[in-house]
Amino acid sequence: MPTMGALHAGHMRLVESARGENDVVVVSVFVNPIQFGPNEDFARYPRDWERDLKLLEEANVDAVYRPSAEEMYPPDARTRVRVSGVTDGLEGAARPGHFEGVATVVTKLFAAAAPDRAYFGQKDAQQVAVIKRLARDLDLGVEIRVVPTVREPDGLALSSRNAYLNPAERKAAATISSALREAAEAYASGERDTVRLRARLAARLALEPLVQPEYAELVDPATFEKPGTLAVIAARVGKTRLIDNHDLSEPFPG
Ligand code: AMP
Repeated sequence: MPTMGALHAGHMRLVESARGENDVVVVSVFVNPIQFGPNEDFARYPRDWERDLKLLEEANVDAVYRPSAEEMYPPDARTRVRVSGVTDGLEGAARPGHFEGVATVVTKLFAAAAPDRAYFGQKDAQQVAVIKRLARDLDLGVEIRVVPTVREPDGLALSSRNAYLNPAERKAAATISSALREAAEAYASGERDTVRLRARLAARLALEPLVQPEYAELVDPATFEKPGTLAVIAARVGKTRLIDNHDLSEPFPG
């Protein structure tokens, strides 16, 4: 199970799923420099190794892999893994190089751990689509398991980046999941027009001035092409960039 540390209950849900389905569970903690853009938050990304290790020990993880950036990317390394198509839009467009960084590190982590199964959160829906494509295309022999998004009581998806939010921003951030919930309710009431469903997402987001949407789209969950039933949102709340998603053909939890 790959992580960037600063573990929260979302990560721990993945660990629990892995623990329940496997004899041996290995978790990696690595803030992967090559998946961050030059103007992104690599330097200030939250890190708390002592706490992470304690949580993983308590969760009965068998091994924790915490490589250094130098070990992972020796200066003479010349190989990168690039998945096309599914990486073209949304996060791929907003964060050039991001998915190449993700695909490269995940390939290396799979090579290091040789897992039968690997666990990823639905929270990062496009990442899931990229990793599934990667595992199939390169015959990695790893079963990709996807774990539902763990949310705060007000619906906000847990994220290590939520720690950046001040109290006003934290409150406003719940608008993102509210928009997904409302769109899921509209879908459940029979709305199937993607233009109108998308407009609903946008209208809900527009009610909260502290939330600046980057995109709100409906895409196919496997290809990330439009249209589809997966509602995906990226928004800035203050300086913090948050993402969330929900498949509208399923009821919103809670
Ligand atoms: P990260 O440390 O952000 O790279 O996340 C490590 C793994 O945890 C990824 O597969 C994420 O999708 C997953 N994850 C992060 N937040 C959540 C959440 N709120 N619910 C479920 N999984 C999550």
